[in-house]
Amino acid sequence: QAPQAQVDLRSFIRDLPDYPSPGITFRDITPLLSDPGAFAAAVHRLADLVPADTDVIAGLEARGFIFGAALAHHMGIGFVPIRKAGKLPPPVHRYTYDLEYGTATIELRQDTIPTGARVVILDDVLATGGTAAAGATLIEQCGGRVHHLVFLLELAGLSGRERLAGRPVSAVFDL
Ligand code: AMP
Repeated sequence: QAPQAQVDLRSFIRDLPDYPSPGITFRDITPLLSDPGAFAAAVHRLADLVPADTDVIAGLEARGFIFGAALAHHMGIGFVPIRKAGKLPPPVHRYTYDLEYGTATIELRQDTIPTGARVVILDDVLATGGTAAAGATLIEQCGGRVHHLVFLLELAGLSGRERLAGRPVSAVFDL
């Protein structure tokens, strides 16, 4: 049974022009989350993109937690949160990366990734790819292997795939 196959996930994404700043169109996924059929369809389609031999899903804060946790539960594997700095109790591994203006730091609890584990990094939106690339570096610093990067939606005009060049990347749909 796959009733989700007919669900048009794009129709559950709400575009917010000029948010959070002029010229940016924010892609709001909350209408998709609040619709049980669309949320289930999204999780099923994400699962189709995750290699079967994946050991753990690592979600990027914050919307990567929502989809990543549901996906890990659906697949019967574990979930690990990659968080913004200062949220996780020590000891943590930390990685700082450049944004258009300034820098950002993300953290992962030490000892949550077994050495050599096949990790899939999960987020809702692939934009410039900077956050996902940083997450991949952090996973490798922790001894894990980045098996695949999976997104619900890819903003194809922002060339996130180029930023992630050489890594396997998949998205359920693009905009
Ligand atoms: P990135 O530019 O790929 O590093 O994106 C940074 C983070 O912001 C990711 O977690 C994306 O999910 C989120 N993000 C970036 N651009 C958008 C957008 N236009 N709408 C919604 N979320 C976004």
